[in-house]
Amino acid sequence: MSKNVLVLADIRDGELRNVALECLAAASRVADGGVVTATVFGSKRKETVEQLSHHGADQVVTVSDTRLDSYTTDAYFQAFKQVIEKVNPDVILTGHTAVGRDVSPRIAARLELGLISDCTEVEVVDGKMVFTRPIYAGKAFVKKSVREGTVFATLRPNNIPVLEADTSRSAVVEELEVTFAEDAIRTLVKEVVRKTTDGVDLSEARVVVSGGRGVKSEDGFKPLQELADVLGGAVGASRGACDAGYCDYALQIGQTGKVVTPDLYIACGISGAIQHLAGMSNSKVIVAINKDPEASIFSVADYGIVGDLFEVVPMLTEEFKKVLV
Ligand code: FAD
Repeated sequence: MSKNVLVLADIRDGELRNVALECLAAASRVADGGVVTATVFGSKRKETVEQLSHHGADQVVTVSDTRLDSYTTDAYFQAFKQVIEKVNPDVILTGHTAVGRDVSPRIAARLELGLISDCTEVEVVDGKMVFTRPIYAGKAFVKKSVREGTVFATLRPNNIPVLEADTSRSAVVEELEVTFAEDAIRTLVKEVVRKTTDGVDLSEARVVVSGGRGVKSEDGFKPLQELADVLGGAVGASRGACDAGYCDYALQIGQTGKVVTPDLYIACGISGAIQHLAGMSNSKVIVAINKDPEASIFSVADYGIVGDLFEVVPMLTEEFKKVLV
């Protein structure tokens, strides 16, 4: 049965996040002839609208209000709710990003919808939508479906392949005037100050080079950054490294940090505590570098290198440079 699907297009620093395109790919899969609508918030979104239509949106609802240029819970909530009421979708998808994680439960609660969060796969089985999500810190997966009513889900980045861009596609674009209850917008973004340097976004990176307490100092992260740069990836960390003050908590991966699913995860000087594995064990290929052959990280690694990271990481960087740079 065909389904009308609504995707909230997540924007960061004015750019469309890849997970928005992944949501569109999932939407096209489940729509089965229904209309795929994307909604995008904020002024100056012309290129974004094109990207959305090239990647599967049949219709794009824009809300070009400057109050939506930076994310705030209240403004996004009000705009998204009004878009949902207008589109009346059977399925609503957002990325499992900071924005999706914040706005989705609020909308779901207000509209009395169920919410399946952090999904890694979406499929249609016997005409029913089935969502897969990790449980027990990534040790098992559960498949869920909704018996009736609107289905609302957040999708974990890097799990659903993006549709190839079809530049011949153009979506029907509609600007929606939303009304904001001014006193309901309780926050105002005056300035955005980045804690981390520019570079590849950790939660969407295809390659993550992560350091643990074994990195030993802030300077110890330099060889990891060099390797990440050669591979076009991002640097992450264990909580051990963050707690020791070697890096910022923004890099923390795990149960209480970011969840990543890159194509390649290189763990350097990380023991492999269950709380760390919760954030990276679904990576497609895991390489562990640790001088302790008994370290539990090796139990989830596809490739293990027993050795000193300060010798192994620069060697890998040099070898990758020969083929990639
Ligand atoms: P360690 O366990 O100290 O491991 C360091 C490793 O480096 C060792 O295996 C050692 O053999 C190796 N090593 C040392 N020198 C070298 C060298 N020169 N070359 C190669 N290897 C070397 N942790 C997270 O990561 N993310 C979380 O989100 C998280 N959330 C938590 C939530 C709760 C409620 C709790 C209780 C804990 C949480 N933790 C989390 C902490 C977690 O339990 C571990 O303490 C932490 O992951 C350990 O970090 P580590 O592996 O860097 O350090």
